[in-house]
Amino acid sequence: MKIRKINMIISSVFTLLILSCTNTIVNSENQVLTIDQKVDSVLRLMTLDEKIGQLNLPGSGDIITGQAKSSNIAKKIEQGLVGGLFSIKTVGKIKEVQKLSMEKSRLKIPLLFGMDVIHGYETTFPIPLGLSCSWDMPMIEKTARIAAQEASADGLNWTFSPMVDISRDPRWGRVSEGSGEDAFLGSQIAKAMVQGYQGNDLSLNNTLMACVKHFALYGAPEAGRDYNTVDMSRIRMYNEYFPPYKAAIDAGVGSLMVAFNEIDGIPSTGNKWLLTDVLRNQWGFNGFVVTDYTGINEMVEHGMGDLQTSSALALNAGVDMDMIGEGFLLTLKKSVEEGKVSMEQLDAAVKRMLKAKFELGLFDDPYKYCDEERAPKEIFTQENRDYARKVAAESMVLLKNENQILPLKMKGTIALIGPLGDSKENMPGTWSVATKLENATSLLKGLNAVVGDKAKIIYAKGSNLDYDLEFEKRGTMFGREIPRDGRTDKQLLDEALKVASKSDVIIAAIGEASEMSGECTSRTTIEIPQVQKDLLNALLKTGKPVVLVLFTGRPLVLTEENENVPAILNAWFSGSEAGFAISDVLFGNVNPSGKLTATFPRSLGQVPIFYSHKNTGRPLGNSDGNFEKFKSNYIDERNEPLYPFGFGLSYTTFEYNNLKLKTDKMTFNDSIEVSVEVRNTGNYDGKEIVQLYIRDLVGSVTRPVKELKGFQKIELKKGETKTVSFTITEEELKFYNYDLNFVAEPGDFEVFVGTNSNENLKSNFKLIK
Ligand code: BGC
Repeated sequence: MKIRKINMIISSVFTLLILSCTNTIVNSENQVLTIDQKVDSVLRLMTLDEKIGQLNLPGSGDIITGQAKSSNIAKKIEQGLVGGLFSIKTVGKIKEVQKLSMEKSRLKIPLLFGMDVIHGYETTFPIPLGLSCSWDMPMIEKTARIAAQEASADGLNWTFSPMVDISRDPRWGRVSEGSGEDAFLGSQIAKAMVQGYQGNDLSLNNTLMACVKHFALYGAPEAGRDYNTVDMSRIRMYNEYFPPYKAAIDAGVGSLMVAFNEIDGIPSTGNKWLLTDVLRNQWGFNGFVVTDYTGINEMVEHGMGDLQTSSALALNAGVDMDMIGEGFLLTLKKSVEEGKVSMEQLDAAVKRMLKAKFELGLFDDPYKYCDEERAPKEIFTQENRDYARKVAAESMVLLKNENQILPLKMKGTIALIGPLGDSKENMPGTWSVATKLENATSLLKGLNAVVGDKAKIIYAKGSNLDYDLEFEKRGTMFGREIPRDGRTDKQLLDEALKVASKSDVIIAAIGEASEMSGECTSRTTIEIPQVQKDLLNALLKTGKPVVLVLFTGRPLVLTEENENVPAILNAWFSGSEAGFAISDVLFGNVNPSGKLTATFPRSLGQVPIFYSHKNTGRPLGNSDGNFEKFKSNYIDERNEPLYPFGFGLSYTTFEYNNLKLKTDKMTFNDSIEVSVEVRNTGNYDGKEIVQLYIRDLVGSVTRPVKELKGFQKIELKKGETKTVSFTITEEELKFYNYDLNFVAEPGDFEVFVGTNSNENLKSNFKLIK
């Protein structure tokens, strides 16, 4: 180890050598200290200002434009008033900024460099909601691994991902960024993502520190409106919304981001119950906590007091780092002096920031993520792109396929029609900040590449995104444009019909634009924009077979489309290789196997709608869904969704038989083997996601009608049968009771195994003392 001594500090416990450049710290006997000892040794050197500086995370602002040396942020870095920087990338820039701290600041504490690396980096994978529909944990983990490899090659060491907010409200635009409605599946995905980003050794130069977000309950805003109020029972929080955050913590996530919303009257950012009692005391989280953007400043608007009060509230609640808002920087000193924040509380936050930097290996080598040779070799490689293409195909969900219209044959003339058909910019999906839009593949390009000269592809735009220009502008931000066509709606439609008339089959590429979901994109109607519906209906009227390739970042109401269109493939926004991957699926090179992780309602009025609801005291008695007076239902709509959780078709068909439980009684600490035979009864090899649900029939509190407790993704050749086994242990039967104790209660349970949450074989067993 290369060691250069620059300073010697005598402390009561150790004689420490603070070493520049490599900054490795040893004691007088040259023994390497534990991280906590190293942290303490640095903390002892710090002034109050420098301590507060470690908690400050400004945006890269003027620095990103290359004025690193003379900007305001640069000056703050030199004064030790910055702990990390947000949204700056490339080794050249990051190195330059890191140098400011290493060469100009008094204590030479390295900076963190964080960014929203959400679903891939330059190689962009499907939006998280799409990715979750693969139900493929090794694959999901690998996407995070590749993202970490690429981002770290570009100088970054921290990502603001995974986003694990459960949501049952498709009005909320950020459903696109999460893994759907289910706590069990969401927890598995949270764990896979953390493992993918962080690997087994956070200090390697190709891993990133992950940041689980947004703690907590951000996916349950009133009326589906972003940033809105959350008021929820504790028992629901613990059973239905908290598990994925906890799973990320159990998987060792290094940091956590607080949510914007209030919870039961106290903003998360200032919520001590949430950030200290639950997070640290109950769950044992020992990483650091960062605000979401200007979360501290926003507490002024929430009505929690001025910036000083809000900043002190946040720190005392358990926030360690202040993103963007500089409330800590501007007010904490005063609060310490006035006794509103204790030095002990401040030190605890600083220690957590220093610990993260030690864990990342930045004190050993602040430039460890700054190897110029890596980026050209490791980012957007053909290998990564091939993987992204595979992942994209696995994330798509076949919603309808009447008369086996899909897969399409590669012959004749195929018309591609719709405003999303030739838009590479919209393929990566929301929150793909590092993606290079010019590198993404449109469906038109993908189709031509996959079909080659075997068939003729003809294209027409058919319509704009929407009739309403203002709405269109809001849905096509950040360069994700679908340029407004100067022609009239009629002219566009006429052209489309002319193109359609020359074709044997029509692919309608329609739906949302990618920025119609994501942050601050709540909608009060969740249907395909009207102009595109009109286009689709006109195409259907031609009598030609129509395949709807749907682009969406949220569950949509597709009741009319389901009625009228013979085939619907939900492609989500599937990343930089989308055009190729959609074509792979359309022509059967890949047999679709994705299953929905969020319920698709029949009507918006059903929202929030999710499979694991309670039974109520007046459940609908009939199984055909007909209206019954004085039962829990609607006079104008059925209760059940259009497509249930776990639903997704394949080009082949599967049959489930012989559900067996090894025994019908289980004692605590024991387990039950459940097996089922799954047979591929169709004409294609295919993958099936076999799902296991349970129902706890009687409880000390009411229990959901079904809860996912296991799943397996299997591959079956045509004609093949496999026996799939699950083990149910006490753990799967536990839930948080009224006192918030995590317990299993004796009694009767039902077990359901099947192809989605609605179609299952059923059996039962008893849990006995
Ligand atoms: C979002 C976070 C994101 C942060 C930093 C916020 O607006 O809510 O998810 O990580 O910005 O970009």
